[in-house]
Amino acid sequence: MEKCKRDIILKDCGCTYEPCSKKGKCCDCIKYHRDMNQLPGCLFPPEAEKTYDRSIKYFCEVMEKRGYKLI
Ligand code: SF4
Repeated sequence: MEKCKRDIILKDCGCTYEPCSKKGKCCDCIKYHRDMNQLPGCLFPPEAEKTYDRSIKYFCEVMEKRGYKLI
C-alpha cells in the first residue's frame, strides 16, 4: 500500500477551515462530506469555500453563476 501523502497534499489543500483534523487527509475529508451529502471544500472556488457551506446545492449555484451549465 502506498504511503499517505498528507504532507504533500496539505501544501495544496484549498480548505481554509483550520481546526479540521481531516485537513490534508483527502480520504477522510471526502468520506465525511459525502456522508453528509456535501462536497469537500477544495472543490469550491476560493470565495465560495470561505463561506464553509459545503452543500451540493450551494456548489451548483456558485458554478452556474460562473457560467457552468449543470445538466
Ligand atoms: S473540506 Fe471539510 S473535512 Fe475537508 S479539510 Fe475542509 S473542513 Fe475538513
